[in-house]
Amino acid sequence: MKVYLCLGSNLGDSRQLINQALGLIGLLPDSQLLRKSSLIETQPYGNVYQPVFWNQVAELETRLKPHDLLHRLQEFEAKMGRVRTIKWGPRLIDLDILFYGKKILNDHDLVLPHPDLQHREFALRLLRELIPSFKHPILNKNIAELYKELQQKETK
Ligand code: ADP
Ligand code: MG
Repeated sequence: MKVYLCLGSNLGDSRQLINQALGLIGLLPDSQLLRKSSLIETQPYGNVYQPVFWNQVAELETRLKPHDLLHRLQEFEAKMGRVRTIKWGPRLIDLDILFYGKKILNDHDLVLPHPDLQHREFALRLLRELIPSFKHPILNKNIAELYKELQQKETK
C-alpha cells in the first residue's frame, strides 16, 4: 500500500530530527521509502505561540497494516524523545499518517485520511509536490483542488 506521512518538528535541531526520523522510517520492515517532498519552514498551526515548524512529506510503500504502522511511528516519536504536552504544543518530532492508500478509517486512535489534512496549508502544499491529482476518498477532490480551496478561504 502507498502511504503518505507528514513529519514535523519545532524543537531542537528540527531538520536533523526529521532526517533521523526518515532514516528510521526507511528501515521499517516490509516497507520502502519511495519519495520525499521538500523540507520547509512553516508557521505554527493551532496554537500559534511557539517556535516555527519544519515539515516534510514522505511516500512509503508498505505491507504494514495501518495500526501496526501507527504504533511503529509512535515508538519512533517516543524513542526520539517526544513528550506529549498540550494539544498542538511544541514537539521534537510528530509523525502523522495523511493517507493509507484510499483507506477510510474512524477508530479512536487512528483516523484515515488524516482528519485535519484539508485545513493544513503546509500538508497540502507538500503533498501537492508528490501527488497533485490524488483524489481524497471522502472529500472527492484532488490535492491540487483542496490546496486551492484552502488558499481561497485564507485570503477571504
Ligand atoms: P497532532 O498530530 O494532531 O498534532 P498528536 O501527534 O498528539 O497530535 O496525535 C494525537 C493522536 O492522534 C495520537 O495519539 C493518534 O492516536 C491519533 N491519530 C488519529 N489519526 C491519526 C493519523 N492519521 N496519524 C497519526 N495519528 C493519528
Ligand atoms: Mg501526530
